[in-house]
Amino acid sequence: MTGRVIQMAFVAYIAFVAFTLFLVAASACDRKERDSGVSAPRLSFVDRDREVPAFSADSAYHFIERQVSFGPRNPGSEGHRKTRDYLVGTLQSYAGSQAVYVQQFTHTGYSGEMYRMGNIIASFRPGMGDRVMLLAHWDTRPRAEKDPDPLKRSQPIPGADDGGSGVGVLLEFARIFHDHPPPLGVDILLFDGEDYGREGDLDYYFLGSRYWSENPPVPEYRPRFGVLLDMVGAGDAVFPREGFSMQYAPGLVDEVWEIARQMGYDHLFVDEKGSSIADDHWIINRKTGIPTINIIHHKPPRPLQTAINFPEHWHTHADDMDIISTETLQAVGEVLLELVYNRIR
Ligand SMILES: [Zn+2]
Repeated sequence: MTGRVIQMAFVAYIAFVAFTLFLVAASACDRKERDSGVSAPRLSFVDRDREVPAFSADSAYHFIERQVSFGPRNPGSEGHRKTRDYLVGTLQSYAGSQAVYVQQFTHTGYSGEMYRMGNIIASFRPGMGDRVMLLAHWDTRPRAEKDPDPLKRSQPIPGADDGGSGVGVLLEFARIFHDHPPPLGVDILLFDGEDYGREGDLDYYFLGSRYWSENPPVPEYRPRFGVLLDMVGAGDAVFPREGFSMQYAPGLVDEVWEIARQMGYDHLFVDEKGSSIADDHWIINRKTGIPTINIIHHKPPRPLQTAINFPEHWHTHADDMDIISTETLQAVGEVLLELVYNRIR
């Protein structure tokens, strides 16, 4: 090897090292830009020995049934328009018309069509600075790619559990908050467009929570935390400790699962680590830094398994009213009411 070749090899090596460092720095910047950079506040809880109002699973069931009666609620559908009016009207009847806000936005769909979309927000005790938020998505999936019948895979799903159940529980909370004002401010946020994207196309999922996170309707909005409910109504439900919830708000996960254990619901809120599931809470944690957890039906992953064990009805036409269980709704409702009314320091 001549000196000149060695010199060239050295230059190439330096260039390689510099390029590698550049890549590392670029990916660090990328992460920084995507993450809010706000570190999660330490959440602390206490048992205040307050009376907690009763949760009615029958009422929550009714709220799910009403949504499903409008048909599939995918963006652009008649069911979507009717459900939006129904949700706004119902929340206004409990929170007052001044305390319900629809954050409108548009989204261009896969075929170039323009969808009118809306995040529906109801604020209870709006004057209070100390707040928490409760979340669900109100849209349903425009296709059923997991359906065993290939002919049905392009049809929109009923979404009784996926979409309907979380909203049903939160409408029942709205009814309760009206009769029993919570001890701190509570915002119910119903996101649109969570389930629009084709499988794997994450840019087309979470449309509402992304829009909300990037365009906060209330500047400097800093609730203590958020709890997302997604697929909380099926008879065979289990809720392991979802991975991103553990990453961003482990103290809140501990408290919610401990409440469930104390109430005898540990067969549902199982004390096992779940999968890390991209959902509205993942967007909110990364974009706003508000610690937010997800209560979501899936089975804990087996060792070395990467696919998520969602329930059989997930993204199929079986996701209809006959899989909804008032026992499951009752457990989720009671656990969260205990959190909101009695455990926040
Ligand atoms: Zn879904």
